[in-house]
Amino acid sequence: MSDPQIKYDAPDCIIIGGGVIGMLCARELAGEGLKVTLLDKGQTGQESTWAGGGILSPLHPWRYPDAVSAMARWSQARYPEFAEALKTETGVDPEWVQSGVLVLDPEDIDGALAWGKKWQTQIELLSADEAAIREPAMAPRKGNAVWLPKLAQARNPRMGRALTESLHRRRVDIRENCAVTGLEIADGHIRGVRTAEGILRADRVILAAGAWSPQLTNGLQTTLKVLPVRGQMLVFRAPEDLVTRIVLDGPRYVIPRLDGRVLAGSTVEFVGFNKNTTESAREDLQAAAIELIPALANCEIEHHWAGLRPGSPNGVPYIGEHPEISGFYINTGHYRNGLGLAPAAVHLLLDLMLERPPILPPEDYALGQQRPPSAEFPRDA
Ligand SMILES: Cc1cc2nc3c(=O)[nH]c(=O)nc-3n(C[C@H](O)[C@H](O)[C@H](O)COP(=O)(O)OP(=O)(O)OC[C@H]3O[C@@H](n4cnc5c(N)ncnc54)[C@H](O)[C@@H]3O)c2cc1C
Repeated sequence: MSDPQIKYDAPDCIIIGGGVIGMLCARELAGEGLKVTLLDKGQTGQESTWAGGGILSPLHPWRYPDAVSAMARWSQARYPEFAEALKTETGVDPEWVQSGVLVLDPEDIDGALAWGKKWQTQIELLSADEAAIREPAMAPRKGNAVWLPKLAQARNPRMGRALTESLHRRRVDIRENCAVTGLEIADGHIRGVRTAEGILRADRVILAAGAWSPQLTNGLQTTLKVLPVRGQMLVFRAPEDLVTRIVLDGPRYVIPRLDGRVLAGSTVEFVGFNKNTTESAREDLQAAAIELIPALANCEIEHHWAGLRPGSPNGVPYIGEHPEISGFYINTGHYRNGLGLAPAAVHLLLDLMLERPPILPPEDYALGQQRPPSAEFPRDA
């Protein structure tokens, strides 16, 4: 909410969407001295940003295009400092933890090892016995595993709270329950946005509305191929240190939090904007988690939820200025990796907005770029 004690000036930039991407854009722009207004149709940090698992790497990173690997690597190198800075600034610890990721029975071991070499990411091939030593809570298994010890996680609800608090401290004008219904455009330039509260003017607008982003580019020639992709997860209330590693077994995984809770995820469902949970997913996720970590059979399921990922072809986000409208910037489509990619995705957009040398080749993320089909995104989004 806007703080009624503060008089906010007309913004230099409006941001549509208060997920991790919009909030980090707002934080960095405010840090550059710009006056920023951030609008959310609900409350900040409550959609995909809240619902995710917080693994700061793609799940099978070697299956993604280089554009995703480059962005993940840039972000991973900055995450410890970023998380520490947020904690110091706000008092909310986003719980960056280097739990490592153990991938069981990968079908493509050679590809995984070659990827590790190419991206200078530590990756080790383990026997079943060696894998059991890394995560003793696992049920006995026969196959090999690969171990990525440097990969880390953050805790989503805490990340959302820390970013919101940081925006308050940086005097960002946050307006919740304020849906943007359209764009104000004149002579090929953005002039502001329309909301139920009226028109809000600014010469720069960033669209960071996650899965909902295409709703605001309808009617433009260059469209965003972003689809809502539902993901369901569970959390078990488990004793501290029952599980200490992120473990991935095919499409299912467990993530241990610092207080002992264990998340089990996740489904990948193309059901439009339906955010309901289903009994069958609950049973599947619970059974897969117990098969992996038998002691979870004794742990209560505390919560079961669903979120909508902003799915894009190949998982490569759209970042840059809209080719038809100057001053209108896009940062969306981070699909399964928005938390992990956020630092680089936001830095790159600011490089383009502020005309700094870009950290990564912008053309790889540009709108209108052809994107080849992907094993990670089987539908033609
Ligand atoms: C089950 C699940 C597991 C996941 N696991 C991981 C993981 O382990 N690691 C990882 O990196 N990523 C993970 N993700 C993906 C990650 O959560 C997303 O990529 C990321 O949160 C996207 O952030 P965002 O800010 O773009 O979108 P969101 O967090 O969805 O935020 C978009 C915001 O825009 C607002 N909005 C929408 N339309 C409007 C409008 N018209 N006007 C104003 N506001 C609007 C919404 O209310 C929302 O607050 C997971 C996601 C899910 C669902």
